[in-house]
Amino acid sequence: MTKLVCAECRHENEAERIYCHNCGERLDRSVVAAQKKGQDPKDEHRRLQKMLGPPNRARQNFFAISKLALAAAVVAALVQIALPPELPAPTKILAPQVDLDLENAGSYQKPGPLEYSQDQINAYLAYRLIGKKKALNNPVLTFVRATASFREGACTIGVERSLFGYSLFSRASYRVDAGAGKIAATNNGGWIGRMPVHPAIMQFGGIIFADLWSALERERKLLGKMGAVNFHDGGVSITTPTR
Ligand SMILES: [Zn+2]
Repeated sequence: MTKLVCAECRHENEAERIYCHNCGERLDRSVVAAQKKGQDPKDEHRRLQKMLGPPNRARQNFFAISKLALAAAVVAALVQIALPPELPAPTKILAPQVDLDLENAGSYQKPGPLEYSQDQINAYLAYRLIGKKKALNNPVLTFVRATASFREGACTIGVERSLFGYSLFSRASYRVDAGAGKIAATNNGGWIGRMPVHPAIMQFGGIIFADLWSALERERKLLGKMGAVNFHDGGVSITTPTR
């Protein structure tokens, strides 16, 4: 143990003393305080290690696993986005003149419902959009094709675009209702690649299909004048307007 040397009489006092045992002078205890601090460097080291060292294992593992799970989810989503969906295969059949049929139906020259198979509609889309490729291309994405697939009560429009040679697919599903002399399409959701997109989000995704809709504006206008549009598995029937 260190001794406290009195500044007055140079008497060596025990470290616990406050006043000199010999002359009663107040002792300078700052020496003891400074020594005490440095007395057990191991304790100090442990304290610092605890403060600055790595967090405990369980906590560390939790964050590592969370990060891994997040990365896995992102990768899974990207894989889903990159996977090509099953779209109707291109058909070689002769495209019906849907636009002219609709025009005639609208002006009563051709009564009765119009019936088209899914293949016929896809042949028409291919034929119709070939001349519109310029309008459908943009500096980043090249338009490849648009498809329609029908099932009971709903129609899914798919668009394949190419990004530097990679195909990107987006699809939107619609239900078409006729009422009060108007035909309205309601979005049922969609997919980017194979990743489903909720309808609530898809309604803001209109921009994805905006170019397609403007390319098919004529058909949309003509359809709007029809009585009803009914989708069934593999086809569509369009009822002519009744007046
Ligand atoms: Zn003294």
